[in-house]
Amino acid sequence: MTTLTDLSIIEAQGLLQKGEISSRQLTEATLERISALNGDLHAFLYIAAEQALAQAEAADKKLSELRKTGLPISQSTTPLLGIPLAVKDVLTVEGMPCTCGSKILEGYFPPFTATVVNRLQAAGMIVVGKTNTDEFAMGSSTENSAYGVTHNPWDLSRVPGGSSGGSAAAVAANLVPAALGTDTGGSVRQPASFCGVTGLKPTYGRVSRYGLVAYGSSLDACGAFGRSAEDVAAVFSAMAGRDPLDATSQNIPVKQISFETGQGLRGVKIGVPKEYFIQGIQLEVEQKVREAVLILQNLGAEIKEVSLPHTEYAVPVYYLIAPAEASANLARYDGIRFGPRLDGETMWDVFTKTRGAKFGDEATRRVMLGTYALSAGYYDAYYGQAQKVRTLIKRDFEQVFREVDAIACPVAPTTAFPIGAHGDDPLAMYLEDVFTLTANLAGVPGLAFPVGFDGKGLPVGMQLMGRHFDEASLFQMAYAYQQVTDWHKIKPTMTR
Ligand code: GLN
Repeated sequence: MTTLTDLSIIEAQGLLQKGEISSRQLTEATLERISALNGDLHAFLYIAAEQALAQAEAADKKLSELRKTGLPISQSTTPLLGIPLAVKDVLTVEGMPCTCGSKILEGYFPPFTATVVNRLQAAGMIVVGKTNTDEFAMGSSTENSAYGVTHNPWDLSRVPGGSSGGSAAAVAANLVPAALGTDTGGSVRQPASFCGVTGLKPTYGRVSRYGLVAYGSSLDACGAFGRSAEDVAAVFSAMAGRDPLDATSQNIPVKQISFETGQGLRGVKIGVPKEYFIQGIQLEVEQKVREAVLILQNLGAEIKEVSLPHTEYAVPVYYLIAPAEASANLARYDGIRFGPRLDGETMWDVFTKTRGAKFGDEATRRVMLGTYALSAGYYDAYYGQAQKVRTLIKRDFEQVFREVDAIACPVAPTTAFPIGAHGDDPLAMYLEDVFTLTANLAGVPGLAFPVGFDGKGLPVGMQLMGRHFDEASLFQMAYAYQQVTDWHKIKPTMTR
């Protein structure tokens, strides 16, 4: 039996349109499921029940007005009217706390709302709460959250991926139909892959970063999770576009993304990069991704082997650039302006005591690494050099996108790993990101979606990367794949 919380955005839209369900019912069912399962999953750090129910009431009023006009919800100015949404706790929402998974922001209530959230609320979505994240989005497992780890709904002893693990787990366990994440080096795509949901990292500059607490400013992107390519596209279309409050956001209109059943992929060229099938990759991950590529071929796509020769430098380049930018961005947490303060004799005393006590190990490590890489004697050798190699990685993509329309590859070398597996080894954790970092370094969009399961019943994901600002093609390819496969419909059995 389908329950309200099983509904995809598209399905819910249909029922709301006909008046068969109300937003209040949908929101109540969502809040009930969150309170039933969040104890096991720890996906949410904050649940906004009251605010959400008030918004749902307002949505129901608008819905009945809309119904009178006869205009379909999807074509109205509020295409996502009445649909619940979870927001990663690094995006600000006025009236809700924003911890970034860190003790240094405990009790901080931002006085403004992130543009992406504003836009989705304007489109009618209902924010039901804030989801867990690695501290300041630094990590690949949510184990770096100061508020406890999120559990993978497919196997509670495993991580959901990270850093947007709370959002991915919430969508996978049907707590919400959609959630926002952020992706600086893979934090939407890798948890999407580990949890068996669809997740997009848009082109850098496609989506506003205003209200996204900065980590690596030249890499950060707001993305979204959903049950299918079609659902994620609906959220993406409502949140993307130029924002005067983010100078790096581009004024390139988002065209309506059309999905036609039975369209196939004739005329589409997809490249498979040989550098993404490296030694050490879990055999089943390679198998499932190659099978998925065959399906894309059967749908009419032309498949070509391609080369992105500088891929092997992505990990060292990213782990210089991201911490360097993070060390600058995290300088603002001084115990004076945000969050808790530890008292001291002098101003410096206050800074060092507060920062020393309230930043977790990974944030501290990144600040130290980044400060070192930017310091006068080492800037050229580290940060400067990393920027040069970043340009080479970018050129690899430009070259390949002359020949193909998209690149198909694994999202992560393995499926979800056990909680604690990389406990004492930050380097092993960094290596988890080999296949996702390049898209951020090059600024191109990446879409992750499920393509099967490994022997332990854990989801395997595939990634499609595309040309700058061509998210539409990625959605259409994944949609075509999801029309002929059922992986995205299989759900973990979470008892309530
Ligand atoms: N795992 C990567 C890191 O720790 C990416 C995180 C992210 O995309 N926010 O930096």
